[in-house]
Amino acid sequence: MNANLPAKSDVVIVGGGVIGLSIGWQLLRRGVEVTLIDKGEAGKAASWLAAGMLAPNAEVGFEEMDFLKFGEKSLALYPQFLDELRDDSGIDVPLDPCGTLMIALDRDDSEFLKRLHDFRKSLKLPSEWISGTKARDLEPMLSPKVVSGLWLPNDAQIDNRLLVAALRQAFVNKGGTLIEHCDAHSVDVSAHTLRTKHGAIQFSRLVLAMGCWSRRIDGIPDEHLPPVRPVKGQILTLQMSKDLALSKVIRSPRVYLAPKHDGRLVVGATSEERGFDESITAGGVMDLLQEGYEAVPAIYEMTLQEVRVGLRPASRDNEPILGQSPHTHVFYATGHYRHGILLTPVTAYEMTNCILDGVFSDEAKPFTASRFFYHEPFTP
Ligand SMILES: Cc1cc2nc3c(=O)[nH]c(=O)nc-3n(C[C@H](O)[C@H](O)[C@H](O)COP(=O)(O)OP(=O)(O)OC[C@H]3O[C@@H](n4cnc5c(N)ncnc54)[C@H](O)[C@@H]3O)c2cc1C
Repeated sequence: MNANLPAKSDVVIVGGGVIGLSIGWQLLRRGVEVTLIDKGEAGKAASWLAAGMLAPNAEVGFEEMDFLKFGEKSLALYPQFLDELRDDSGIDVPLDPCGTLMIALDRDDSEFLKRLHDFRKSLKLPSEWISGTKARDLEPMLSPKVVSGLWLPNDAQIDNRLLVAALRQAFVNKGGTLIEHCDAHSVDVSAHTLRTKHGAIQFSRLVLAMGCWSRRIDGIPDEHLPPVRPVKGQILTLQMSKDLALSKVIRSPRVYLAPKHDGRLVVGATSEERGFDESITAGGVMDLLQEGYEAVPAIYEMTLQEVRVGLRPASRDNEPILGQSPHTHVFYATGHYRHGILLTPVTAYEMTNCILDGVFSDEAKPFTASRFFYHEPFTP
């Protein structure tokens, strides 16, 4: 969209991924004037390239209780969030409560999964230890080599591309001003002014939701910028057919396969510390296809539709960075790393409450931006 940049706006958001769009839309629902600026087409960066898994139970690592509570809260908020989104966008984004089936292909995998299972049982999460045969009953296309599995029925998934389209439409329908192809390059914090490729805009409050580019803005001292780095993910899309279709998200310790309602099968993803490099490598594609084939041999027959690279915004502790920056009228919503689609509803509601009412729930408090700004400056 190429609306003209207004001279001022109550709230200005930089970054139109799922995070910026959903915060902007929720602020509009509360009657606030919002202008959102994106350097490209809104929603076409990491938010477009993700796999759309909403999997707090599969993703929780040892000692990640704060993430688990926040992720479960977000997943529980999804139905309400999608109802509101349908009302405002006219687009129905279905939530697919398909669960996660984690599989083991050898004894090492099996021991690894057993530890994950024991940990989940200790947390009283719904986690079922199953045989290879039972795993194939749940998902008949699994390899005969699958020896055991972990069934996590509470996880879900979503079509993140449809989510992006609905958020964009809801933002515009609610009266938001969306300025695309407009790079924001610097902030004058004391003058409440953001400078962009297309001129300057004044704000009462500024939200920086720039994903992995969150440190690329002038005018804020380095030590007050969120410590975020890009983590590269190569990801493939295959085309399933009626005869060759999965119904559940499958995860081995090295790859995941996420089947979408429109017949796409998303196979991901590499995790590479390569800065802003977005090249597709033979090795990355080979690993994904090889590991995907080990889990589900039938992918050999599927059409390869797309190979892409996305950059996950990862913070220094790999957890989100939310709330007020050291400058009171500048807010951060970034660092969602591997979980930005899962954490979209909770981030949108929490950030709206934080910006308008100055409050955060107990579940959000561990992720406040202030945890990074009490120490000596450190560049990630
Ligand atoms: C391969 C891969 C798989 C993933 N799978 C999942 C998954 O299954 N489940 C899950 O929950 N999460 C997943 N994620 C993570 C998820 O995609 C991200 O956490 C989430 O999309 C981050 O959203 P965002 O809005 O912060 O960033 P982005 O979507 O990257 O959006 C940031 C936006 O800011 C804009 N911008 C940046 N700088 C400027 C500037 N100076 N001026 C104007 N605009 C600017 C960019 O153009 C961009 O549109 C995955 C990520 C990848 C890469």
